[in-house]
Amino acid sequence: MAKYDIAISGGGPGGAYAAKTAAELGLRVVFFERARKSGEKNASGCGLGQRWWRDFPFIMDEIVELDSYREIHFCYFKITDSDDRLVTTISTAKTPKDDRRIQHKDHGYGMTGTSIYRSDLDPLLANLACNAGAELRTSTLITDVIKEKGRVCGLVTEKGEKIEADVVIGADGAHSLVAIASGIRKRWNKDQITLVPQLDFSCNEQRMDDVIGPAELVWFGPYCGAYQVNFRDGFHLGLGQWLDKWDTRPLDMVKRILKIPAFQAMCRSVDAELREYQVHLLPWMPHPGKSYGDGVLLVGDAGGFPCPLEGEGIWHACLTGRMAAETAAEAIAAGDVSEKALSAYERKWKQSAVGREYEFGQEYVNLWKNSAFDPEFMKKMVLFLGEVQSLNFPSPVFDWSDDHMKTFNDHLGHLLDLLPELSDFANHNIVPLGKGISTENRERIAGMISGSIKKKLPRIIPQRVIRSVVGRFLGLA
Ligand SMILES: Cc1cc2nc3c(=O)[nH]c(=O)nc-3n(C[C@H](O)[C@H](O)[C@H](O)COP(=O)(O)OP(=O)(O)OC[C@H]3O[C@@H](n4cnc5c(N)ncnc54)[C@H](O)[C@@H]3O)c2cc1C
Repeated sequence: MAKYDIAISGGGPGGAYAAKTAAELGLRVVFFERARKSGEKNASGCGLGQRWWRDFPFIMDEIVELDSYREIHFCYFKITDSDDRLVTTISTAKTPKDDRRIQHKDHGYGMTGTSIYRSDLDPLLANLACNAGAELRTSTLITDVIKEKGRVCGLVTEKGEKIEADVVIGADGAHSLVAIASGIRKRWNKDQITLVPQLDFSCNEQRMDDVIGPAELVWFGPYCGAYQVNFRDGFHLGLGQWLDKWDTRPLDMVKRILKIPAFQAMCRSVDAELREYQVHLLPWMPHPGKSYGDGVLLVGDAGGFPCPLEGEGIWHACLTGRMAAETAAEAIAAGDVSEKALSAYERKWKQSAVGREYEFGQEYVNLWKNSAFDPEFMKKMVLFLGEVQSLNFPSPVFDWSDDHMKTFNDHLGHLLDLLPELSDFANHNIVPLGKGISTENRERIAGMISGSIKKKLPRIIPQRVIRSVVGRFLGLA
């Protein structure tokens, strides 16, 4: 029986990063991938957030050279109504402050995101591990764990080969056989996991540059919000829903977006052609589950680590992979790989940037679940967003249907009609996030309200209303 310090099931980002870290620490490590190469069986592509420039600059230097790379600076939300008409486009912003936040080689990368196909990214990460000395075995499905007196001490391949190891790391994604076979957890509950159908399109590269540029798109309307991640010469369109909420065939949910005229026009403008349909699972929960057991650790999706706000999970997989390998190395060196010793892993990730992701986990999940994932609610939200935009400069200036103050009042009246309908949503999903505003900013806002605004606003809105609304949001009431 082959014997390693660490055996890892899964050759995705979490497994590769755990393998790289373990090899760099001088351990004998093997990682197994069921596909012919890493990335072959994963969601077609991904967006990587700005913090990759901060946390993995040496990987970013290689990613920007990969074939499918597209640099991203904006995300445009295309808001459509029940008749599939485009109501408005809202966008993320970019300020000089962003550029100062994250620097790499004297460049500001504050709002610079990255889109890349997984068939490019995953092999890059796997190669980093192999170059560090890890052994990768592809086309190898892990079908079981080896246990001795309750302790996990190896993996079994589909051919029945047994691999012995001091510590096993489950980096085998949302389905994670290691998590279940080791007894750390059962299958995810249906309200902990989303099903994500996704369509991949090839496009004309020049047209993608001219028409879409450095942007991702989100289609927002009376359906489950759909993201469009744009690559050098293609894009993918996906949307998900928690398993306990599915009431239709996955493909029908994506088809809903395909019939939006603005989406079709965008496809025509970049010569988009459908090339692949996939369906994946993605854990989406307020907090990760239990991530350690006797002789075993879980990283990335296997541990339920994706971000509770928007489901990003590759950064989390790499960081938890690194922390799991470090914890395993310390435990092996100390000659104690018991559950108690490996619980250090949970303390480690809780105290890290990964742990901070779940501070508002429940609030984040509620926010998304009750808005973008609730088509009935989105019907009202679309009207609201349309009215807010119609009051924003420059819309009122360009509304020439009547005299300007009259049209302004028409829109303001409609917005006020909509507010009571949305107040429940705000009370339950926005107000609880007020406690995340820093004490310093709370005091500054409170100071402004008690200063000049307090004197002027009451002429328009009674002071007690301002105090109660702002106080509740700031958690001061
Ligand atoms: C449709 C979709 C879109 C997403 N978009 C983004 C995005 O834009 N940005 C982002 O950061 N995250 C995104 N995510 C989340 C992200 O894909 C995951 O969080 C991330 O891939 C987790 O990495 P991992 O290594 O833990 O698991 P995975 O990437 O799932 O890797 C697990 C690997 O293990 C292998 N494997 C599984 N079981 C076995 C077994 N029994 N034996 C051997 N090998 C096995 C698999 O083939 C796979 O290669 C998306 C997820 C989905 C589903």
